[in-house]
Amino acid sequence: MLNVYLTVDTELWPYSEGWPVTALSPDKTTFDEEIAACFYGKTSEGEFGLPYQIEQLNQYGLKATYFLEPLFADRAGNNYLADLVDLIQRNHQEVQLHLHTEWLSEIHDPTIPPRFKQYMHQFTLDEQIALIAKGMHSLRMAGAEKLHAFRAGSYGANRDTLRAAAQNGLLFDSSYNPCYLGEDCKIDLDEQLLQPFKLEGVWELPIAFFQDYPGHQRHAQLAACSAKEMETALLDAWRQGWFSFVIVLHSFELIRSRVAGQLSLPDKLNIRRFNRLCEFLSSHTDKFRTALFSELDPATIPETKSPKILYSRPYHTIRRYVEQAYSRFS
Ligand SMILES: [Zn+2]
Repeated sequence: MLNVYLTVDTELWPYSEGWPVTALSPDKTTFDEEIAACFYGKTSEGEFGLPYQIEQLNQYGLKATYFLEPLFADRAGNNYLADLVDLIQRNHQEVQLHLHTEWLSEIHDPTIPPRFKQYMHQFTLDEQIALIAKGMHSLRMAGAEKLHAFRAGSYGANRDTLRAAAQNGLLFDSSYNPCYLGEDCKIDLDEQLLQPFKLEGVWELPIAFFQDYPGHQRHAQLAACSAKEMETALLDAWRQGWFSFVIVLHSFELIRSRVAGQLSLPDKLNIRRFNRLCEFLSSHTDKFRTALFSELDPATIPETKSPKILYSRPYHTIRRYVEQAYSRFS
């Protein structure tokens, strides 16, 4: 049985040109538009954010992890964070911690650094420990239960991030993304990580990826893969006997055109991909089980013997190009 982690990075991006390099105006007191779009997926044709995703997941009997970014709430209002935690947990999905340090210049808390840097790995170990502690505290104050896992914003972790997560009592990290190694993700390892690996006191569950053409790898993000590419990768991982397969999407991945002063549009291609993925997973419960970090016992993680890199089929990849070109005009 392959454990599929459907992980949804859930975060707010202010409508403000040049942010975060240019700080928000002190006059900006409402984030209603951004919250409606980024979290609730409000569009001119209905809502396709968390309530929609969660309803689909529950209809298909699936579980997802909402990696929820809490720093925004110090600026926009804690009630928004509490509403999200309640929505997710009341519907039997889980909240885990995500941090976007872009928010640091906007918030005032003496326990954490006062100025923004884009990535967690740009902070010292002690600062990262304080940042994760702050994030966990905010989520708990908002009602979050069973916090066991962390993902850095933009996958911007290094080994200190994993140490900081362990120091805060977290068991898992899921920031390792081979497609972002270098400037963003700095979890340096001798070889590419395909399956869970204990590192610096936590278990790292890498984001799944496949090679789509020679010398190029694509991570398992809903918006980045055709439905067939994702299904093929899942089936190949299952055939190889993998333990886990981590898929990424965002709270706003089913909508597009997020700009100030107008409603967003539904992203029909990604909505179709999401619904098809739910249907695929629920119709292959003999092979796949959607899993939660809060239910994962580290003692049960096996050593996967020499996992092999996954490959897409060329005709599925070509189909993705056609789909994406078509979606631009539809
Ligand atoms: Zn993020």
